[in-house]
Amino acid sequence: MKQFSIYKPKTVEEALAALSTGEKAAAIYAGGTDLLIRLKNRLYTSPDVLVDIKGLEELRFVRYDETGGLVIGSLVTLGELAEAKEAVHYPVVAQTISSISSPELRNQSTVGGNLLQEVWCPYYRSDYRCWRNGGDICYAEVGDNTEYQSIMGAKKSFAAYPGDLAITLAALDAKVTVAGPEGRRQLTIEELIPGEVEAEGKIQSHVLRRNELLAEVSIPPPENDELYLFGKVRKREVWDFASASAAMRLSLDNKTIRRASVFFGGIATRPWRDRRLEDYLSGKELRYDLPDSAIQEVLVDARPLPHNGYKKDQAVGLLNSMLADAVSRVK
Ligand SMILES: Cc1cc2nc3c(=O)[nH]c(=O)nc-3n(C[C@H](O)[C@H](O)[C@H](O)COP(=O)(O)OP(=O)(O)OC[C@H]3O[C@@H](n4cnc5c(N)ncnc54)[C@H](O)[C@@H]3O)c2cc1C
Repeated sequence: MKQFSIYKPKTVEEALAALSTGEKAAAIYAGGTDLLIRLKNRLYTSPDVLVDIKGLEELRFVRYDETGGLVIGSLVTLGELAEAKEAVHYPVVAQTISSISSPELRNQSTVGGNLLQEVWCPYYRSDYRCWRNGGDICYAEVGDNTEYQSIMGAKKSFAAYPGDLAITLAALDAKVTVAGPEGRRQLTIEELIPGEVEAEGKIQSHVLRRNELLAEVSIPPPENDELYLFGKVRKREVWDFASASAAMRLSLDNKTIRRASVFFGGIATRPWRDRRLEDYLSGKELRYDLPDSAIQEVLVDARPLPHNGYKKDQAVGLLNSMLADAVSRVK
């Protein structure tokens, strides 16, 4: 295993200073369930200094009020968030978390780490010198692309973004606050995770620079007459990433969909917004025949690799059953 040192800051400012001034590559260490595995695999891009932020109590809180909505500190674990009474207004958050990894991992994994985790493409994780490890090739594009790759195309690296929480947060219009040397800025989930960002000679999924820290996530207050849905297909019912997942928010006037927000996971380099489907659903009535007509509009621009075309069928099937669920809920 690669040698590294650990620094434990007491404040966010100390953490940012450590990330900015170190001569050696430093990285934030939260729950470690992604980062430590990468270190064990000795990835080309793994850091020399870990800035262990677990002691930063200022990042460990969950707040809710009717005007501001839900605000979650980035160090809150997935397990804590699923059980937080402040989050009961958004049951789809707990539903999404219940589909992530295992209870043990959810007790260790933080919200910030879940959003910013690296891809789980086996080539990247096995230390192949691919785009994400500072190389200049995507092995999965021509090699094994059966599970962890995009069906929606890619510029260079076809590894699919793996996080489930981001899919639901995107559908809920959540924003994140990023702290850096120049202060704080807010980003939408789509802005945070554009998919293929070139940084320091490698490709990463998100836009955070090495000297920045994800501080909190906020979700606007729920409106009346909204339905939230989440679905996920995976090989095993526990401990596995989405082969395809989807999160949907439907704002309703009685049975008519006023506005739809639909994001897919596990099938693209980023949380994939299906605007064509959203447009199709807007103005439609939630009737028994809607699921079957809507699936004609799902991911029509998909460009699967040789071995992952089945993911589109999974996404279409998911969408069909989620809409059928929505229809049954408004009867
Ligand atoms: C067997 C297994 C199954 C899994 N299944 C799923 C699944 O089904 N769905 C799913 O979504 N995930 C899954 N995961 C991934 C898991 O949820 C993530 O590893 C976890 O959420 C990461 O959180 P962490 O706190 O442990 O992050 P860490 O490992 O500490 O960090 C992850 C990355 O984020 C950076 N980081 C962490 N916090 C911050 C911050 N506040 N600001 C800036 N950068 C930060 C770190 O530097 C690192 O690069 C699985 C993991 C395993 C091992």
